[in-house]
Amino acid sequence: MALSEFALIDRFFRDCGATRSDVPLGIGDDAAVLDVPPGKQLVAAIDTIVEGVHFPKGSAPASIGHRALAVNLSDLAAMGAEPAWALLSLTLPQADEQWLTEFSRGLGALARAHNVALVGGDTTSGPLSITIQVLGFIEPTRALRRAGGRAGDAVFVSGTPGDAAGGLALELSPSANDTPAHMALRERFLFPTPRLELGRLLLDFASACIDVSDGLLGDAGKLAQASGCGVQLDYAALPVSPGLVAAVGEHRARELALTGGDDYELCFTVSPSRIEDMLNAVPAGKWGYTRIGVLTADPRAAVIRDGSVMQVSHSGFDHFASPR
Ligand code: ADP
Ligand code: MG
Repeated sequence: MALSEFALIDRFFRDCGATRSDVPLGIGDDAAVLDVPPGKQLVAAIDTIVEGVHFPKGSAPASIGHRALAVNLSDLAAMGAEPAWALLSLTLPQADEQWLTEFSRGLGALARAHNVALVGGDTTSGPLSITIQVLGFIEPTRALRRAGGRAGDAVFVSGTPGDAAGGLALELSPSANDTPAHMALRERFLFPTPRLELGRLLLDFASACIDVSDGLLGDAGKLAQASGCGVQLDYAALPVSPGLVAAVGEHRARELALTGGDDYELCFTVSPSRIEDMLNAVPAGKWGYTRIGVLTADPRAAVIRDGSVMQVSHSGFDHFASPR
């Protein structure tokens, strides 16, 4: 690497995230020292994104930096946790200064927006791969789990799932005459929004929660399974964006909403007795979520269309499944 490892860390990562008073020792020593607030539980998550697997080769580096952190913050959002610190393990083919400038800009902007300090990491050379670990806090025993749902609980999803999958398809076949609607879909893939504030608000209402990374039907199925239930989703109730419908048509939009990945929205369940209070305290219009189904005693995951069970080709993205 032309740039020394020390110079690279100093220049691109020392001041990348937020500055926090609970970091007595951050980047520069053998390990970081962090002050955990008394009376809180620590919440930890880690995720890797690999070029050619999780993002197309040659993706804009600002998007790669944003997504590497966003996918982790989304996991904390799904727990109802408040993020605080991140560690970055970066494997790079070469130390390209322009690439690093943009990557750290994308990562740093999202980190500062959520008051996350970058407190350490590791830098190695090899095929492009980014691992981030995030640490955050939760009030003891209050974390939202996948396992808290009961048969009869209503199922909700935030945002308009399917947009990121539509955007990724557009990224993979770039066209000269991209419409503003196409650009908006591509943004949903390139710069997903971790729903941290919504996750915090749901602590008072949701019985279970999961973030939608591998497709709504598959992830709702995981929540249901963890809760010892099945799930029925209502095809007509799926919130598809007008832009996605314009790009791929109504039916394909609903299929992408069910099976497309990379949305990083929250899918959560609420006991019938808590729904009204939630709708008053966390208005659906303001927070952008929609009721889409119900947890069932029958353990299967199904989509109901016009009163009958719909066939769905695959239930989500699985890294070790046979090729689609
Ligand atoms: P060591 O060899 O002791 O692991 P390194 O030289 O790898 O130390 O790292 C020196 C310091 O820089 C450490 O504080 C480490 O956490 C930090 N660091 C290394 N790479 C990164 C990175 N990509 N982003 C943020 N901090 C990093
Ligand atoms: Mg090291």
